[in-house]
Amino acid sequence: MGSDSRSTLSLDTSVQYVKGIGPKRAAMLKRIDIETVEDLLCYFPRRYLDRSHLSSIRDLKPDQYATVVGRIYSTEVRRGRVKRFIVLVGDGSGFVQCVWFRGIQYMATAFKTGETVAFSGKVTVYRGPQLVHPEYDKISDEGESDPLHTGCIVPLYPSTEFLSKIGLDGRGFRKILKTVVEGLSGRLNETLIPSIIDRHGLMNYQDAMMNIHFPEDSQKLSQARLRLKFEELFYIQLFLALQRQKRQTDRKGLVFEIEKSRIRQFTDSLPFSLTGSQKRILQEIFEDMKSIKPMNRLLQGDVGSGKTVVAALAMLVAVDNGYQASIMAPTEILAEQHYLTLHEWLETLGIRVALLKGGQKAAEKKEVLKRLADGDIDIAIGTHALVQEGVVFKNLGFVAIDEQHRFGVMQRAVLRKKGSYPEVLVMTATPIPRTLALTLYGDLDVSVLDELPAGRKSVRTVWRSEGKRQAIYDFIRDEMKKGRQVYIVYPLVEASEKMDLAAATQGYESLANEVFPDFKVALLHGRMKAEEKEQVMKLFKKNQIHMLVSTTVIEVGVDVPNATVMLIEHAERFGLTQLHQLRGRVGRGAEQATCILLAQYPLSDDAKKRLETMTKSTDGFVIAETDLKIRGPGELFGTKQHGILNLKIASLVEDGKILEKARKEAFHIVEQDTGLEHPENKILYKTYEKRYQGRFGLIEIG
Ligand code: ADP
Ligand code: MG
Repeated sequence: MGSDSRSTLSLDTSVQYVKGIGPKRAAMLKRIDIETVEDLLCYFPRRYLDRSHLSSIRDLKPDQYATVVGRIYSTEVRRGRVKRFIVLVGDGSGFVQCVWFRGIQYMATAFKTGETVAFSGKVTVYRGPQLVHPEYDKISDEGESDPLHTGCIVPLYPSTEFLSKIGLDGRGFRKILKTVVEGLSGRLNETLIPSIIDRHGLMNYQDAMMNIHFPEDSQKLSQARLRLKFEELFYIQLFLALQRQKRQTDRKGLVFEIEKSRIRQFTDSLPFSLTGSQKRILQEIFEDMKSIKPMNRLLQGDVGSGKTVVAALAMLVAVDNGYQASIMAPTEILAEQHYLTLHEWLETLGIRVALLKGGQKAAEKKEVLKRLADGDIDIAIGTHALVQEGVVFKNLGFVAIDEQHRFGVMQRAVLRKKGSYPEVLVMTATPIPRTLALTLYGDLDVSVLDELPAGRKSVRTVWRSEGKRQAIYDFIRDEMKKGRQVYIVYPLVEASEKMDLAAATQGYESLANEVFPDFKVALLHGRMKAEEKEQVMKLFKKNQIHMLVSTTVIEVGVDVPNATVMLIEHAERFGLTQLHQLRGRVGRGAEQATCILLAQYPLSDDAKKRLETMTKSTDGFVIAETDLKIRGPGELFGTKQHGILNLKIASLVEDGKILEKARKEAFHIVEQDTGLEHPENKILYKTYEKRYQGRFGLIEIG
């Protein structure tokens, strides 16, 4: 290691050679995926501090959320009735106590007197102003000048306890980034092309990187953020555009013929006529099927909008053309139900439908597998059992995936590989926010079912607390007397599965034996044997069971139009999307349906927001957008490891507009230059290949 690390620093240099890091810290940084100087450069501040954000301690008001910067005068672990750690901070205008009741052992080693530190938190008053468990960032050491007082905007870097312990707290990162940014100054190459930069008035890469870490002023900072967000979203979209391009050109899809008389034969046999929206989407799907390009289409439609019949018609076409078709469902109950429905619709047209699932007896399963391989089954319906090894189709030509977010992109890919190049239709029930759709499914063509079947009334939704239980039961009794059916849903989460199951079982027993002994009440949960579940669902469909007490297994897709009431116990524990899915189980017939959200106090702010949203809206899009805001995209999909959603700077919640622009650019470029071979696109190709291909490659399909 030369003493002049400045001139030797390049983007590919291992972080271990950066001044102030060394092998030990480098090993720790690897744990957060920082291995090269470039990784460090892309480790962006989580927020910034400048003088305009600060409050004087003298002016602090109770309940206000404030940031103060001050010098540490003393630190003390105080025992007394409640053990706590107290830091006394002064800024010349007054003093504030920062207090910790937890993590005392660690906190007691975190501060030194004389340091200048920024503390942020809600102000409380207890013999003077206090900040309890504030967020903190060290600004400077004793004797060092405080950059905030010289008018700088100070970047605050994310850190963790294990990083702080080796000196990589926010301030440690700031020092290292300073070295890196200065070392690379003037030597960073542009990563976008001039036409894009000009068209969108973007800051250049060099300036953006300098200003994102050490902003010259707030205007430059916002330009830097815009530039880097644009770039991040642009390369994701470029990936999607290239994926899509690849599928459209270097694959030979299947070509199907559409026989109108057969379509009519099917639709005439239905007890309803298709909505305009269903007809329009079928046309789009048929166009895909007729063409040599393999279909990759997303069918988006709110719960109850009638996606199944659309898939059924497409499958009919596939089978009539001599191919097999398959539909994959997220739960066994839903697979079972699809089986019943499709069997009823298609068997009379001479189509052989079979069900394949996890809990099947070995002999039975073997038989189905054999018939699938021999081509004696036309349509196979299953859960992900369908994607497991050993399932072989004779000639799979069409795959519908009823996914409701539960199938990963990987599973989609595996299933697709089971056919030669089958047509793929992905169906999602919960409308997802447009920014997410464009990111997760951005390589697919999209059809939106935006019309509910005629005569549907929107579900009346109410939020109640325990005191209303008797009135709720009275209402339910009235409904059942009119011949309607009822769902009672209990939460079930893995972490507390045993207790949850016990609560559901107890609830069932009391309802069956004490509250509604004169009605037929049944229990349904995921731990029951497959045959038992099937039996219960069949009886419920036939109206031989009046009230179904269940855990969330009914969340997805179950279709019993005569059910008009849904009571959700502990509604505060459910996610918003989940509540919307559940509510979609009622309101499928012509009668007015009711969804009762029974919540137990105390409620968190998020829970209140969820319940309120449910009572105000039945629009899946509104609900999905709100959910995205409350939870963030990673959790919404349960796919934190999803490369494409691991955004470093852009936000799918806030940056929809930038996303749309970046997408337009990316798709335009790939349309003009399918392999990114034109000389003017060389920068894009090189950047994409180096920085992004590996990262997104993980989810490459097919
Ligand atoms: P989802 O889109 O949630 O999967 P389904 O396909 O289960 O919805 O359809 C919901 C219900 O609406 C089913 O009972 C289905 O038979 C019925 N349905 C579908 N299309 C129509 C239509 N055009 N008119 C009336 N009912 C319909
Ligand atoms: Mg469905």
